[in-house]
Amino acid sequence: MSIFVWRLLSNRVHVDTKLQWRKIELASKCYCCPTTPGIESLQHLFVNGVGAARVWSFFDQWFAGGSYPLKPKDTIPERLEGWAKRTNQQKKTHMSRITPCLIVWFLWAERNRCRHNEADFRPQNVIWQTQLHIKKLIDSGQLGTNQRRGVVSPLTIVPALSERRQAQLVMPLKWHPPDPPWIKLNTASWLSEGSGQARGGGIIRDHYGQLLCAFSVPLLVASSLEASAKTVRIGLSEAKELGTQIWIETNDPRVASLVKTRSFGPADSRHEMARLFLLQKGCSTRITSIGSVLNKAAKCLAKLQCDPTEHCRFNSHTAPRIVKAIVRLEQMGVPYLREEDE
Ligand SMILES: [Zn+2]
Repeated sequence: MSIFVWRLLSNRVHVDTKLQWRKIELASKCYCCPTTPGIESLQHLFVNGVGAARVWSFFDQWFAGGSYPLKPKDTIPERLEGWAKRTNQQKKTHMSRITPCLIVWFLWAERNRCRHNEADFRPQNVIWQTQLHIKKLIDSGQLGTNQRRGVVSPLTIVPALSERRQAQLVMPLKWHPPDPPWIKLNTASWLSEGSGQARGGGIIRDHYGQLLCAFSVPLLVASSLEASAKTVRIGLSEAKELGTQIWIETNDPRVASLVKTRSFGPADSRHEMARLFLLQKGCSTRITSIGSVLNKAAKCLAKLQCDPTEHCRFNSHTAPRIVKAIVRLEQMGVPYLREEDE
């Protein structure tokens, strides 16, 4: 990390403008501004781009009362030196010197994550990682009270981290293919409370992640639980045509738990659950539930724009384009990012 900061101060970090200056043809577009991307310069990425500005102003609160205000025109060395002097502490290992280095380091890490994963830049990620690193330094005794003198009690912010972690940490998630000879069935369903209209979708893939069969069917159901159970049951009967070891992944944790405990559940699901248990005979199954991010293909099928009474069945050639695209991405192991509010 110190090497990185040194490279940054000596203008040796390869952002787009730097590469352009070296006559490498490149259309520069920053990753840190979601609505109006700017040209990615060192100044933009590390000081005054939307992402950087948010991160600096967050940590600015920790050093409230410091003599050095945030100025958008700060150069990077000015920013680092200014912050180092904020609390008038001489120690080289004081938090006022460490924090800005961590900020630029994690800004750079976030920028690279976005560039390589085609992901959105999240200032919150940078803030979170910087806080976590500081917390680690404190926990391991490398950042004692002397080195935190003059800092407006970051500890009131840091301990809250574990609770905030779940909501704020953006984790890459991947759809996992089954191990051979298993096949995997993903199902999703929805029920409109207003119209009572419901539809279920499912997709069956092999261990290469290749689409074997997909379906989208109207459901006559009284509850969302029944809709989920019915979709799993329809999917399982399709899957049994294709294999005998079937991994079921449903959008509904209630169905997964009913299957695991072999219970029929409330009145509205009893009938479907009984049929599902009968179908399980003659094949091996396992069942898990999954959040909607990793169940995109099944969700698209359940939400398919078509005649509401139409039963649709697809193979790898006839599947809707969006489903084929999702299958291809998941086959390549491209990760998704969990939305912050999920
Ligand atoms: Zn930007």
